[in-house]
Amino acid sequence: MVEEQLARRGITDPQVLMAMRTIPRHLFTDENFWGRAYEDHPLPIGQGQTISQPYMVALMTQTLKVRDDDRVLEIGTGSGYQAAILSHLVKKVFTIERHGALAKRAREAFDTLNIHSIAIRIGDGTIGWSEYAPYDGIVVTAGSPDVPQPLLDQLSKDGGRLVIPVGDRGFQQLKIITRNGDNWATTEDVGCTFVPLVGKHGWSEGDK
Ligand code: SAH
Repeated sequence: MVEEQLARRGITDPQVLMAMRTIPRHLFTDENFWGRAYEDHPLPIGQGQTISQPYMVALMTQTLKVRDDDRVLEIGTGSGYQAAILSHLVKKVFTIERHGALAKRAREAFDTLNIHSIAIRIGDGTIGWSEYAPYDGIVVTAGSPDVPQPLLDQLSKDGGRLVIPVGDRGFQQLKIITRNGDNWATTEDVGCTFVPLVGKHGWSEGDK
């Protein structure tokens, strides 16, 4: 997985490659999928949601440019795999999931791997997690119609980075927003397809 899907496609950060080598992806999928857990695509994790393709997890992690004393927030815990990768690189990870059943399974996977640096909250991640703000990095792993204002506000003024897929329900563009003081600079990266971000500043419940 690391050689063929990541290194060859431009994932060059040695720390990210090491994290992807270390965290066993199959433990974040249902046992029925263990034989396919290292393949080049997303997989279903229940509740109509998916664990992202390995390349997308690596790309988002590399794009976040984290340092080891950074505080990072993830929106969309899902299986917990992306959060586990981040926990390999930084001291403290906060992650929010709207489905309680997925949050519970992610917690079990963290416990199995003896990962204790991840705090999970069940709720709407589009409003962020203000108690622990500001964040050096925020990664949104669901597709959003727009950039939620609370996430912009909860970025560190000192170079905080937000990585978020923005677009319509079927296709998004990965946006990278960097905050310096009260200035937010945006660049765009690859096209991608994520499950919808559902919440106050995302898609509405009726959209799914
Ligand atoms: N990072 C995950 C990918 C999960 S898919 C992984 O590594 O497996 C995206 C997840 O975002 C889904 O589990 C979905 O339930 C969740 N989600 C969607 N809208 C959300 C919201 N407003 N707040 C929190 N989680 C949300």
